[in-house]
Amino acid sequence: MREIAPNVFVETEYHGANVAFIVTGAGVILVDAPMLPKQARHWLKEIQKRTDEPVRYIINTDHHRAHIVGNQHFPGAHVIAHENAWKEIRSYGDSFRTRLLNMYRDRMPDAVAEWEKDLRIVKPHITFTSRSVLFKGDKEIHLIAVGGHTPATSVVYLPRERVLFAGDVVVTNRPPFLSQGNTKEWLEALTYLRKLRYDILIPGHGELTGKEATQKMSEYLRMVRRRVRTAYQSGLSKGDTARSLAHLVRFWPIPPFEKPKADRRFKSGLGRVWNEIRTEELAKSRTKAKATGKD
Ligand SMILES: [Zn+2]
Repeated sequence: MREIAPNVFVETEYHGANVAFIVTGAGVILVDAPMLPKQARHWLKEIQKRTDEPVRYIINTDHHRAHIVGNQHFPGAHVIAHENAWKEIRSYGDSFRTRLLNMYRDRMPDAVAEWEKDLRIVKPHITFTSRSVLFKGDKEIHLIAVGGHTPATSVVYLPRERVLFAGDVVVTNRPPFLSQGNTKEWLEALTYLRKLRYDILIPGHGELTGKEATQKMSEYLRMVRRRVRTAYQSGLSKGDTARSLAHLVRFWPIPPFEKPKADRRFKSGLGRVWNEIRTEELAKSRTKAKATGKD
């Protein structure tokens, strides 16, 4: 764990997403929550070592399990997330639970044993749609919806501390998860993040970095879009496009836990991008047809 600014603590070593806590003087605010029960309890102990203020809020940067499954370990805290995250999380029922248990059964049997006894999905109590600012104690915490990675994706910006929690808009140690994304919006989000003023960028997954990481993400997304567009224009189907570009996942390191599903996941992401490009291309040809008077 590192104190990256006064009273702003970050952990990048837990399983799942990066997490942080901010001691405001009027309560503690978490950015996402460790997903494994043991690590969530460890996190709470770390917090209690440093302050006796209660955990008041948990900000979830999106609705994916790595960010939200740990909410249940901080009872009394109100969860804040984008309205679209609430819409997703409220539908997490048996199939979400079964998928989670199956995915972790072999590799994290302790966590699965605990989840089998007690898995409570805590939905957001407070939602926002474009932005919201928490003025709490001596901290000013900006929640900004940027989308791109998912329609719920938000970043957390501390202008005074010059710190940005980028959520999964930026990842550094694994391929970006494209399957619920919109790459055009994602590129716009990255352009926007380059305009904010900060020295430390905390990616959703991976080591602490700086603004340069947004550049690398943008280059990668632009490259994927270019390659998918070429495939689409040459008449490749969605499946063939995904198969022919599957190697682009190798641009990123793949954490051991992600290995078994990385290829399948990436191909499904490419399918998503193919749909997006098709929509763009069809819109383009409609505009062209209108301009030339043809139908
Ligand atoms: Zn995510």
